[in-house]
Amino acid sequence: MSIPDYISPIVGYRVWQWVAAGLKSLNGEPWSPGKPLAAACMASNRGTTAGRAEAAHDANDAPREKCTCGVYASKSLEHLHTTGYERYGICGEVNLWGTVVEHEQGFRAQFAYPKNLYLPPKMLPSTLAEIQSRLQALTLYGSDIFVIGNGETISLWAKDSGYSPAGLDYLIERSKRYYDRRQRDRNLKRGDRVAILGRGIAVVEQAGDKEALVVLWNKNVVRIGRKEIVWDEGNMRWETDANAAFECLVQPIQ
Ligand SMILES: [Zn+2]
Repeated sequence: MSIPDYISPIVGYRVWQWVAAGLKSLNGEPWSPGKPLAAACMASNRGTTAGRAEAAHDANDAPREKCTCGVYASKSLEHLHTTGYERYGICGEVNLWGTVVEHEQGFRAQFAYPKNLYLPPKMLPSTLAEIQSRLQALTLYGSDIFVIGNGETISLWAKDSGYSPAGLDYLIERSKRYYDRRQRDRNLKRGDRVAILGRGIAVVEQAGDKEALVVLWNKNVVRIGRKEIVWDEGNMRWETDANAAFECLVQPIQ
């Protein structure tokens, strides 16, 4: 991809949909990594059916002054905010070049390419594995990526240096909070099964805040600190380490 270096691109602001494959315009048009998006006029198609043929022009000769074609961008982030577009995706700066038609609030350009992207935390997946695969697609654009977290803008990934330590710290911390929350939300209760690694599956007899009593296959009752029993997302079951399980000096349950 080349932005002609004898022209300084105009910088505008846009909102993109962030899908698994990367970026799309809000109208669904995909943006390819490493390739400028070139405007194509659709008015000629519409013109013939709507009797506006006189307004039609060569589809590739876009944008035209008296048409609606071109790649749209706003002049300010504020505008994306007040119009509400912001909440439909991720905001970022976009380089615009070629023929650029200027309007009061924005531009219509012949060519466009994302300059940088600002990810709102609510659009990030919860687990690190999902985040990684989603970000992978985004880094292919080579545009700098920021995340807006804890009320500040944190650099996440840059073309020259890759992932930043501060950005990764933020993502790891966020993901940890998510797991902690899930852990708390999930209540261990009577009848649940707990895998005591190395010893077998036990059934919860009593679950308290501090500890749980579980019964093993041989009817032995075992006491386990509640914090030692964790939900394993991969195996979809409660698990604990054999070292955390203490035999109880109570009669086996008949
Ligand atoms: Zn047009």
